[in-house]
Amino acid sequence: MRRAEEIRDTAERVLERLQADRLPVRPADILRRCRRTRIYTYTQAEDALEMDPAEIERISGGADAFTLRFEEETESSYIVCYRERGNPARLNFTLAHELGHIVLRHDGRSTAEEREADLFASCLLCPDEALDGLDHPTADRLARLCYVSRACAEQAVRRREKDLPPKRKNSRLAKYIRAYVENGERHLLRWTNEKR
Ligand SMILES: [Zn+2]
Repeated sequence: MRRAEEIRDTAERVLERLQADRLPVRPADILRRCRRTRIYTYTQAEDALEMDPAEIERISGGADAFTLRFEEETESSYIVCYRERGNPARLNFTLAHELGHIVLRHDGRSTAEEREADLFASCLLCPDEALDGLDHPTADRLARLCYVSRACAEQAVRRREKDLPPKRKNSRLAKYIRAYVENGERHLLRWTNEKR
């Protein structure tokens, strides 16, 4: 497994480049903005990839998402497919995990890579600014701010207790979190998973 710090820093760089100023993080939007990357629901993938539902299920191996990588001359391109039904917070984590496989340039699906993608998702969805901005955050408060499952929030709190040393600050995100706290821990915009 790569160093946790390196994975955290990669997640922070993605946030700074593609969604620096608010929570919750929207990995679906980030994926749409990534170069050479397309994102489809399983239903959309049936048309786009000309596959029948059984074939998509077979490729997914029953998972809620999968990523196809196509090798081209100098670069890879990616198609991320996801199951549309289910809990939106869980879907958010699933898509952040798939984004992790892409940006960490994984080429297989080893246990180590799966753990790296999970850590990436936790760092992306619950960035350090969220932990700092809530000042002694509980998993419940963090889960509400970051729109993640309680399990993901617990993992983020543990990540902080454990090791990672402090890093540079994302001030735009910190400003959003201050406004959220001052607003009685209510989001300033309504969360939606819809494409904007
Ligand atoms: Zn995975």
